[in-house]
Amino acid sequence: MIPYGKQYIDEEDIKEVLGALRSDWITQGPRVKEFEDALCAFTGAEYAVAVSSGTAALHIAALSAGITKGDEVITSPITFAASANCILYCGGKPIFADIDSAVVNIDPEEIEKETTPMTKAIIPVHFAGHPCDMKKINAIAKKYGLIVIEDAAHALGAEYKGSKIGSCKYSDMTILSFHPVKHITTGEGGAILTNDKALYDKLVLFRSHGITKDCPDGDGAWYYEMRKLGYNYRITDIQCALGTSQLRKLDGFIRRRKEIAEVYDNAFGDNSVFDIPQESKEVSSAWHLYVVRLREEYVELRKDIFDELRKKGIGVQVHYVPVHYHPYYRENGYKDVSFPKAESYYASAISLPVYPAMSDDDVRDVVRIVKEVTNKHLR
Ligand SMILES: *Cc1c(COP(=O)(O)O)cnc(C)c1O
Repeated sequence: MIPYGKQYIDEEDIKEVLGALRSDWITQGPRVKEFEDALCAFTGAEYAVAVSSGTAALHIAALSAGITKGDEVITSPITFAASANCILYCGGKPIFADIDSAVVNIDPEEIEKETTPMTKAIIPVHFAGHPCDMKKINAIAKKYGLIVIEDAAHALGAEYKGSKIGSCKYSDMTILSFHPVKHITTGEGGAILTNDKALYDKLVLFRSHGITKDCPDGDGAWYYEMRKLGYNYRITDIQCALGTSQLRKLDGFIRRRKEIAEVYDNAFGDNSVFDIPQESKEVSSAWHLYVVRLREEYVELRKDIFDELRKKGIGVQVHYVPVHYHPYYRENGYKDVSFPKAESYYASAISLPVYPAMSDDDVRDVVRIVKEVTNKHLR
């Protein structure tokens, strides 16, 4: 089975991890800071805080933004549940805003429609690695005094108007995930990027129990104090050794993803069963996903086509079940909400495999089998 996504680990990565294991530090040693510095150098952000997962990154970003009981936070219904769950962790209320069908990202106009006096923040998700319209989102945030947290779990290596996603040029914070299907991996892992020193200080506290040893007025050299209700969201030196090694290969990873996307574009550009993903002019996508969408007259065949592709060894997937469809959300106030564009997108979507370790033969197999299966259903 060719999966939809997968990590790429080489001997160099393994050597770096062994180096960490042979060193004096297993958790929170010099390799954490090294990885954070490398993330800053790559993205252009001033500060980075590496943590145990993308979800942990979202949680402490939301806490540092001051999201609390009664606050509304606007995000996309087409995302992994974590983008919205982090709002619930803080006692806030996720408010979904419908997508722009062309690029499957949250639509700035819909964000503005959902804004109320209770709105505290916006969490735009760069779906599939295609950056959101950050300039418009930032303008809305400025107008209403909102904090912006970019969920860039799909978008490390993407660019928006000439700057790297993660630079936080149009946001307060950006979160990353290093889960194996994402652009680089640390096994599990995540990070928050920011240019704001005050936010950085809060993030560092929340990562480790809210405890600091930096207490000039303390009782003595042993003294530490807990200033916030934080968590253990620390990442290890072992993981960060892998992260730094992976980051060195990121440009090549992105290049390979673009190559694969181009092969698909050329192979599927003029078929009449499904539409291929679009890339806006002012962005460079990181191609985390390559999502094709069945044309209206074929939508009812999605399950059949999906199952046939799986049966023939293509590990297709659907990204994502809209967040408000999940039983937990339905049972907690989202039963009667509806986002027509997100829902019709969901009904039509199939993600094809795209990841750097895919061989040319794998790509050819996907093209051949997708054509075979869809031609069979051609009307
Ligand atoms: C993967 C992902 C996350 C969560 O990251 P983890 O590292 O798996 O916790 C959050 N948001 C989006 C959009 C993701 O794809």
